[in-house]
Amino acid sequence: MVTIREAREALKLYFGYEQFRPMQEQIIEGVLQGKDVVVLMPTGGGKSVCYQVPAVVLPGLCVVVSPLIALMKDQVEALLANGIPAAYINSSQTAEQQYQIENQCLDGKLKLLYVSPEKLLSPGFFAFLKRIKISLFAIDEAHCISAWGHDFRPEYTQLKVLKQQFQSTPVIALTATADKLTQKDIQEQLYLRNPQTYVASFDRPNINLMVKPGRDRFKKITEFLDRHHNQPGIIYCLSRKGVESLASKLKANGYSTTYYHAGMSPNQRAKAQEDFLRDNVQIVCATIAFGMGIDKSNVRWVIHYNLPKNIEGYYQEIGRAGRDGAKSDALLFYSFADVMNMRNMLTESQSHEAQTELQLVKLERMQQFAEASACRRRILLQYFGETMKKDCGNCDICRNPPQRFDGTLLAQKALSAIARTQEQVNLGLLIDVLRGARTNQVLQAGYDRIKTYGAGREFSTLDWNRYLHQLLNEGFMEMAYDQGYTLKLTEQSKQVLFEGRKVQLVKFEDAKQEEPSIKARPKRELIKDALFERLRSLRKNIADEAGVPPYVVFTDTTLQEMAAERPTSKIGMLAISGVGAQKFERYGDLFISEIIDFVNEEQAKGNKMKGATHLATFELLKQGYTIQQISIQRNLNPVTIFSHIATLYEQGYDVDLFKYVSKGEYNVISKAIAKLGVDAKLKDLFEFLDEGYEYYKIRLSVSIYKKDKLQ
Ligand code: ADP
Ligand code: ZN
Repeated sequence: MVTIREAREALKLYFGYEQFRPMQEQIIEGVLQGKDVVVLMPTGGGKSVCYQVPAVVLPGLCVVVSPLIALMKDQVEALLANGIPAAYINSSQTAEQQYQIENQCLDGKLKLLYVSPEKLLSPGFFAFLKRIKISLFAIDEAHCISAWGHDFRPEYTQLKVLKQQFQSTPVIALTATADKLTQKDIQEQLYLRNPQTYVASFDRPNINLMVKPGRDRFKKITEFLDRHHNQPGIIYCLSRKGVESLASKLKANGYSTTYYHAGMSPNQRAKAQEDFLRDNVQIVCATIAFGMGIDKSNVRWVIHYNLPKNIEGYYQEIGRAGRDGAKSDALLFYSFADVMNMRNMLTESQSHEAQTELQLVKLERMQQFAEASACRRRILLQYFGETMKKDCGNCDICRNPPQRFDGTLLAQKALSAIARTQEQVNLGLLIDVLRGARTNQVLQAGYDRIKTYGAGREFSTLDWNRYLHQLLNEGFMEMAYDQGYTLKLTEQSKQVLFEGRKVQLVKFEDAKQEEPSIKARPKRELIKDALFERLRSLRKNIADEAGVPPYVVFTDTTLQEMAAERPTSKIGMLAISGVGAQKFERYGDLFISEIIDFVNEEQAKGNKMKGATHLATFELLKQGYTIQQISIQRNLNPVTIFSHIATLYEQGYDVDLFKYVSKGEYNVISKAIAKLGVDAKLKDLFEFLDEGYEYYKIRLSVSIYKKDKLQ
């Protein structure tokens, strides 16, 4: 039997990953033992590995059933890039192409075959599969089998035939949908045998959650984009018109932008999608129609220009960010006007009363999330039935906890004004009354004569707006949606007005520290970013040449690690997460030489800036001074003088390093360098050599080694 150890080795060799994520290991163990399993994991959780690794190590062919034909190509490309033989069969291919792939299967040349459910169930296909050794069936997007889910596909219900036809072949069913009903449907309808079900946490800790008030959205968006230079992202808008106008505004301001909505022709849509996938364009403005069939792992941020209808939708949309696990941002704009719009849309469009009711409740939960004053991730996960033990630390509330103050007096003023106007005013009119505005509406109704007229001048209209919403949210007053949105008193308001109940309100200040990264960053970070950009554009070139999306070459996480670690040797490169044997073979040298170039240029720049101090050392050397003498004369530490000498040597000046380190010593030291890599810290080399060689000798040996071995 194939062991989990072999699976781990395959993970390293083909995917370049050091270890399985916790649940992956258990799932794969189950599969290797021939069990049926059901996997519920959020998008980006790492579902594919759960069947791709078994597919590689088990004898035979793994058949992957996937409804998204558009994704098959990407997935197969990604597998091929990792050196795993894979192909897909679907209706987009000619009979000849399909025939060829079938032959490859019969010859045992493939490890994975992606098929659409239609193809799988088409006449003769089972007979064909029976002629091949099938290791495993993987049912992707398995929630499509459930009529309760949000994406029901009738053809999926036919998949039960699989278990009847291939009784002893294990089946793994995977989905990113969490609810219990769907889960049960999957097990039952696929006729799985005592399946083991694995439910991963739906948390996506790498996504930073932020909510901002909807004023000045465009300005806030451009500020955001300037902080996320070059990073691909999606801006979701409510309407097609909104999508187009935002896109053209962004374009006019010089941002690389395209747009996508269901009203465009299939060709236009395909082009927009392709441009985004390939990093030809940075930003896509879209309706929620965008993203269903997209597997781009390096989406770095998602902005919601308008409030989504419900939390399910919101979570799915922000989930398109950061599938590679790298730091990502989700920014939601919230305004009360949006809620009103949405309410109107829902009440108008739905004929079924109960549905409307349900949608309105869901919208309310969404609104509560947007207005929350406690950790946002807690609220989200709680909504999906998961309880977090502590606050997340990666949302705007955690970063900038709201300050509360005693708002009793403020609340009393507002509530008393509502009472004195016979509960006939809406929000805008109430604010006018409180601020003592002399508008026609106020004067005509005679509100300028009530006692609370002008009692709230100390707050701006905007502040009042925010505080009144808090009072609404916390039940201190109500809004009669069916009576012109007029404000009504509640039980709680009466307690505040007549029974001395205190009201705590959240103070509004514009958030100071919303993103972990906007603080002035250390220089090292910036240099790292510069290298990252270089590697990114190298990746883009390679991807374009191969006709694949950039993340198929390497993910952002992998590039980030490269930029931080700067590996310049094979060992160093293979140690980077995401660099497997096949990818090293193909791209390793290209990336290594880019890193070396970068490091050299950086050094050259640095030396220029230092006023070429090493050249002064060179002058003295030529005049025959010893290191000791130069050090005294220049008032510099001897170690510094040696590093000048090393730099001189690397830059091709005529200095003989073997005057300071013997050939024998170099032989030993260079072995250590070969082992740890030229980029190893001197301290590590020093320790590796049992502290037997002085630092300067190691430093000089590194220079000799670099020139010897790498040039
Ligand atoms: P899903 O199909 O669940 O949306 P993927 O299978 O696409 O998720 O995986 C998401 C990302 O995580 C991919 O970039 C993948 O290569 C990476 N990944 C998966 N498993 C591991 C692992 N064990 N170690 C590191 N990265 C992993
Ligand atoms: Zn939080």
